[in-house]
Amino acid sequence: TQLIKPRIREILSKKLPEGLVDLLPKHWVQIGDILILPLREELLPYKYEIAKVYAEVLGVKTVLRKGWILGEFREPHYEIIYGSDTITIHKENGILYKLDVARIMFSPANVKERVRMSSIAKPNELVVDMFAGIGHLSLPIAKYCKAKVIAIEKNPYTFKFLVENIELNKVQDRMTAYNIDNREFPGKNIADRILMGYVIKTHEFIPKALEIAKDEAVIHYHNTVPEKLMPEEPFATFEKIARQHGYEAELLESKIIKRYAPGVWHVVLDVRVYKK
Ligand code: SAM
Repeated sequence: TQLIKPRIREILSKKLPEGLVDLLPKHWVQIGDILILPLREELLPYKYEIAKVYAEVLGVKTVLRKGWILGEFREPHYEIIYGSDTITIHKENGILYKLDVARIMFSPANVKERVRMSSIAKPNELVVDMFAGIGHLSLPIAKYCKAKVIAIEKNPYTFKFLVENIELNKVQDRMTAYNIDNREFPGKNIADRILMGYVIKTHEFIPKALEIAKDEAVIHYHNTVPEKLMPEEPFATFEKIARQHGYEAELLESKIIKRYAPGVWHVVLDVRVYKK
């Protein structure tokens, strides 16, 4: 990027009115051969020219304008400003993630957590991923830990990619996918480890996680937390709900994943639960 930025600047300084060149994005996200570009309002009248130059210099097929990730399915709302194909295969940590970047979230800030999952489980464990997405967190477990994984994803479109990714990464023998709402998952008292990679409302799913968990299990509990409630939250809520359902909870580790919004953090807690 050291050489790329001056090159982009040089080309666009001939096409944009003076002053606007300084507003060009200096950071962007590349997923496979697709670029997500944050563009300020002032640049919008020139968005096509700008996107074309970034695409050519960076060698990507499609450029999306960064927007918001919203709703139950955590779907991105990004505008296509160059190219048309939004499906790509992103390689990270030796894993192939196929996805539609315009419709499925893939957060670069979660990379550490995806990589951490590669060595988290033992081969004899059964892991249940309650919010699997395209297999963001559970493909590394199936591939590198060799544990058995059940991946649950409610959105049918995302599920299609989850199934493809299981095949692309050749983990069919250990990873099974369900296209259902995790609250409908029938397994009880089966999981050694549970992934809850969700935000905003994750606490609502704790009772279901405890139902799926064995009498003793580890839960990787993600949630978004207002800074003023930290560090007590979100463990205080987790522990309270666990006790209401006959489980004790022990906090093994807690980590900040990223800033989610001003004053709000996305955190992950590793919690050991055991039946009282
Ligand atoms: N766990 C991955 C991660 O942390 O990178 C993907 C997270 S994505 C934010 C959450 C996924 O959970 C979405 O694909 C969404 O469709 C799915 N989801 C939301 N509610 C669900 C539910 N009740 N049951 C199953 N999947 C659900």
